[in-house]
Amino acid sequence: FQQLLRIISRKRSENLSQDHVFHRNFNNNYPLIERGEGVYLYDTQGVRYLDGSSGAVAVNIGHGVQEVVNAMTKQASHVAYVHTLRFETSLQHELASMIASLAPGDLDTVYFTSGGAEANESALKLARQYHLGNNDQEKFKVISHSISYHGNTMRTLSIGGDQKRKELYDKELHGGVIHLAPPYGKRSDFENLQEDEYVDYCLNQIEKKILEEDPETISCFLIEPIVGSQIAAFPMPDGYLKGIRKLCTQYNILLVADEVMTGFGRTGEMFAVNHWRVTPDIITFAKGVSSAYAPLGGMIVNNKTIQTIKDKWDGKFAHGYTFSGHPVALAAGKANINYLLDKELVPNVKQKGRYLRKRLSELMEKFTCIGDLRGRGLMLGFEIYKNKKTREPFNQSQKAAEELNQICIENGVVFYPGQGLIDQQPFDHILVAPPFVITDNEIDHMVDLLEKSLKIFERRFK
Ligand code: PLP
Repeated sequence: FQQLLRIISRKRSENLSQDHVFHRNFNNNYPLIERGEGVYLYDTQGVRYLDGSSGAVAVNIGHGVQEVVNAMTKQASHVAYVHTLRFETSLQHELASMIASLAPGDLDTVYFTSGGAEANESALKLARQYHLGNNDQEKFKVISHSISYHGNTMRTLSIGGDQKRKELYDKELHGGVIHLAPPYGKRSDFENLQEDEYVDYCLNQIEKKILEEDPETISCFLIEPIVGSQIAAFPMPDGYLKGIRKLCTQYNILLVADEVMTGFGRTGEMFAVNHWRVTPDIITFAKGVSSAYAPLGGMIVNNKTIQTIKDKWDGKFAHGYTFSGHPVALAAGKANINYLLDKELVPNVKQKGRYLRKRLSELMEKFTCIGDLRGRGLMLGFEIYKNKKTREPFNQSQKAAEELNQICIENGVVFYPGQGLIDQQPFDHILVAPPFVITDNEIDHMVDLLEKSLKIFERRFK
């Protein structure tokens, strides 16, 4: 019956394609979603989709939480907007202090934006202004990994490692970026090294690079502690972030942790840097801060950086957005974090993550086209191969991850597919990141639907 509904549903959205929407992809037929509840989305025909990726790894507390909806409605009915250059709301203070209390070390001050790329742009500008304030005029370059994603604005795109997204903008993408190979030894000549030896090697290489580029020209190091969309949940090896922290301190480079995807409990810790007890100078966040009930992002900044803005810049950060501190978005953020804490969802992520990993590792044994399961908490990923033993990838044009995800959608479950490039080798991957409220039964159902889809995928691609 659900299959029949799906066909009707597809027809309906095909008919709607003569419309005025600038679609993300004009060739796709998107199901029209009408409502969401828990881990499920329902389309206008009543077809149900298990949201195995929490949207864009964002709807952490699940769909349809009335507490959040009520808080937003209430705020909108009081005042929907104030310009935070002229006025503030008490919500701004309440949410900032909540977030600061959850953040590590002396990251005590919170700046709000509407999303992740804006958060990273803000951090990049703040780092530059911090150095200028301290008379370090030449510190403008940014270090990042060549496999990373930091947003879709021109500057964040140039810093991130998504080659495909950059292709069109060769001419205009800015300079001043130092791209490092990510610590992904298993695919390279370092397979036989112990992890700590490999990490030492990487850190030595990074220090060499810093000296080669001249530390006096480097502003900050922007890093995803667990790389999300570009490589499907790849955590930095133990000791790596600590080593980077040390190098950044030594060479007066600000360490910015991009926790847009990992923040607010996704990996089983409130922030992913906590896995390694590292305190960056700035954490950027978005997605999970409001569980995507409203567009909200921002950065949490340490005291030394704030003090420079106060002392050297007359208290003014040369930046700002119309929607910084938007009251309805802040109301969503506050209600979301209260829900996260009241329901103790972060410890739940650890527990459910263990169960999901166990169920997925069983699938890895059953299928020869998937492997390399990895990640933390409810941010897990795996790769798709033509030949698992040799890690031979599918041809890029086959879009194996997209195809598998499409089959999944037809079977009632959705994940987050991607294509990456490591050591010049293309590979396909899938990110599995359901809402934190998922139950064991729902995990079983999700994995069963994935298994069913993998069988179809194997038949089609062999
Ligand atoms: N940084 C990371 C690690 C992300 O995963 C994303 C989005 O997926 C971004 C930044 C950009 O966030 P946004 O799409 O909200 O601009």
